[in-house]
Amino acid sequence: MIAQIIDGKAIAEKLRGEVKNAAAALRARRIAPQLAVVLVGDDPASAVYVRSKTKAAIEAGVDVRDHKLPATVKQAELMSIIKALNEDATIDGILVQMPLPASLDSDAVIRAIDPAKDVDGLHPLSLGYLAQGRPVFIPCTPKGCMRLLREVDVDPSGMRAVVIGRSLLVGKPISLLLQNANATVTMCHSRTRDLADEVRRADIVVAAIGKPEMVRGDWIREGAVVLDVGINHTADGKLVGDVEFVAASQRARAITPVPRGVGPMTIACLLENTVEAAKRRRG
Ligand code: NDP
Repeated sequence: MIAQIIDGKAIAEKLRGEVKNAAAALRARRIAPQLAVVLVGDDPASAVYVRSKTKAAIEAGVDVRDHKLPATVKQAELMSIIKALNEDATIDGILVQMPLPASLDSDAVIRAIDPAKDVDGLHPLSLGYLAQGRPVFIPCTPKGCMRLLREVDVDPSGMRAVVIGRSLLVGKPISLLLQNANATVTMCHSRTRDLADEVRRADIVVAAIGKPEMVRGDWIREGAVVLDVGINHTADGKLVGDVEFVAASQRARAITPVPRGVGPMTIACLLENTVEAAKRRRG
């Protein structure tokens, strides 16, 4: 079987078009959706992410308010900025770019964000609602993965899904979303005894590990659907996912490439959450 390559870039563009229409409808009612982006320190990768998010937001009709803070910022000062953003009625979403410098308590910062503005979906309340099957804000990358499944007409109901990786950012929320969609979900991680065996039984494989091409193509069951969340740079400067793409695409029914797969969905879903927050708060 030769897999359908899931074109995340095209699907993300379609979603961004939907977000732009929703933002325009709000603007027509004099509601300008606004995202606050907080960037601490000068990590170059974080700066690139923030620039892409800002550009995409402006294109979609979402205003952005940037807060760039030095790495030396004190916890108390950061917390008071979050408090001010919570209280500012014109701000609909608050995004604190992670990782924060080690001197700061990231969990406390996330907890300080008003859950009604938690467009990253990482507040414990957002994750709790997701676990209850009543999501309010869904973390962006997992949300993007579910949209990709819908776009290729995959209904997870009754399917065996294997999620590799159990981070709060990706693996755990994806496993909850798949359970909420009635899949039978197995969570794998670094202590999983026989990963190949687990993957061989999966109708849906989600790889969120951060290890280049660790999931071998011959582990993929004939006809499975593969979502590769991993972003890895090889020694020769290539960008690859967590799945051995060429071999896996000989067996899968559908597979996301890296790049142009899951990656572009993340920002599109962040904007979708922001416009959703504006609608809920002010619409
Ligand atoms: P984390 O490092 O937080 O989590 C990695 C997970 O992989 C952990 O649960 C870890 O297990 C598991 N793992 C590590 N080694 C193995 C192994 N040998 N076998 C099985 N499981 C293993 O990463 P993230 O979840 O934040 O990100 C994962 C990947 O997704 C990264 O490449 C990241 O860059 C990418 N990413 C992509 C995004 C996008 O927009 N496309 C967004 C966010 C992340 P354990 O818990 O036991 O340590």
